[in-house]
Amino acid sequence: MKDRKIRVRFAPSPTGGLHLGGVRTVLYNYLFARQQQGTFIVRIEDTDQSRYVPGAEDYIFKCLAWCGLLPDESPLHPGDYGPYRQSERKPLYLTYAEQLIASKNAYYAFDTAEELEQMRNNFKTEENPSPQYDRHTRMKMKNSLVLSEAETQRLIQLNTPYVIRIKMPENETISFTDMVHGEVTFNSSLVDDKVLLKADGMPTYHLAVVVDDFLMKITHAFRGEEWLSSAPVHILLWKYLFGLEWMPQWAHLPLILGPHGKLSKRDGAKYGFPVFAMNWTDPKTHELTEGFYEKGFLPEAFINLLAVLGWNDGTEQELFNMNELIAKFSLDRVHTSGAKFDFEKAKWFNQEWIKKLPASQLRAPVKQIFEKKGIHIKDDPAFDSIVELVKDRCTLLPDFYTQASYFFKTPEHWDEAAVKPKWTVEKNRFFYELIEKMNELPHWELHEIENIFKLLAAEKNIKAGELLLPFRVMLVGGKFGPAVFLIAEKIGKPETINRVSTALNIFNA
Ligand code: GLU
Repeated sequence: MKDRKIRVRFAPSPTGGLHLGGVRTVLYNYLFARQQQGTFIVRIEDTDQSRYVPGAEDYIFKCLAWCGLLPDESPLHPGDYGPYRQSERKPLYLTYAEQLIASKNAYYAFDTAEELEQMRNNFKTEENPSPQYDRHTRMKMKNSLVLSEAETQRLIQLNTPYVIRIKMPENETISFTDMVHGEVTFNSSLVDDKVLLKADGMPTYHLAVVVDDFLMKITHAFRGEEWLSSAPVHILLWKYLFGLEWMPQWAHLPLILGPHGKLSKRDGAKYGFPVFAMNWTDPKTHELTEGFYEKGFLPEAFINLLAVLGWNDGTEQELFNMNELIAKFSLDRVHTSGAKFDFEKAKWFNQEWIKKLPASQLRAPVKQIFEKKGIHIKDDPAFDSIVELVKDRCTLLPDFYTQASYFFKTPEHWDEAAVKPKWTVEKNRFFYELIEKMNELPHWELHEIENIFKLLAAEKNIKAGELLLPFRVMLVGGKFGPAVFLIAEKIGKPETINRVSTALNIFNA
């Protein structure tokens, strides 16, 4: 195991939106692979035809691209271990399932849905309200453990639908060392005879994951904690098929918790925060679930907040870039208990990243926000200087539009309520004269604008402070934005004059 090249995999089922817990699994895989000079693989687990959703696979790769977590091997970039979609590996699994039958660790089961239902009803007791297909019931069912070899072959010949089930041994202690949870032990008697191969010839997750992790030479497998209870089945399958000379080391990652237990997409809808990486529209119901991307998160912030949702580096540091994460990530600092997702904290990360990144790096995503609102940006350096000017006031990317749209278009509304109560004839006169002075100004430059403004205020005996707020509202539409003379300089002389006179008409109406 030690001399094997590190190979890790993210193995999503293309069934819908990519939950932030899923992206965190990708991230931990990615960080570990990069840190260990290993290979990061994406394998599409699409064997459950009933849960397959068209478009979901493309969407997963789109999300990974946005996050900057691109795999080294995947269906889009095959390496030497393909195919990377389980549906394309179908014939392979049957061979392994038959091998398990031959070694008597699995058996054919011919029970119909009605017969299974009947079993659940017949064996229901107070202590056991939901009986399973296991050591208590298996010998009372229609399977190759009960039927003669000849009868079994006859049913197969007749194309009777069957599944292949693992035969869980009795009272065996199954232990392994999880990289997050440490030593974990199970009793095989408590686990049911899981289906390995379905009637349609497709493997279930349990068989496929073991076979593929083996064939793809996976050394470490990170997956959600919900899979911990399946570990005994996987360990036995591995032992029966490949021996226990080596096995991937598992890390079962803690759940991400919402306000009430496991964070769900319903929590997102209820509390108004995203749960998926990017917008996902269910093709059947057309229901849209919002994504972090569309909400206005930077990928740097999204990655950072996910990294620390269940891991820390042992210090107080909270902001990490990808390279720092690659250097510092360690599985022994992954928490064992669930990590609570806090949207306010998530926004804080985005705000910090907006402050941290230079305007040139914010340009592309911010430009997109403006383009969506119909404002086409031509001059990048000028745009960068505006981005720099307002970025400390922005938490989510759409805030750039709210905070800076007035640099590109005349406000549509003016906050009259902020001005009118203190509006006087003198102030009104001041601004009319200011228009004239500004008109005459030879150099439209911030200090010169400030100068004539202040001189005129002194001449009129009005405190400049009382005039700045109305001036700001005239130029911006509201009581916000950076230094007002800077705004005037940036929007230019004709536009400043135009806004002052339009606003005067409104204030005087
Ligand atoms: N297909 C499983 C899932 O979607 C993968 C679990 C694993 O990584 O083994 O959760």
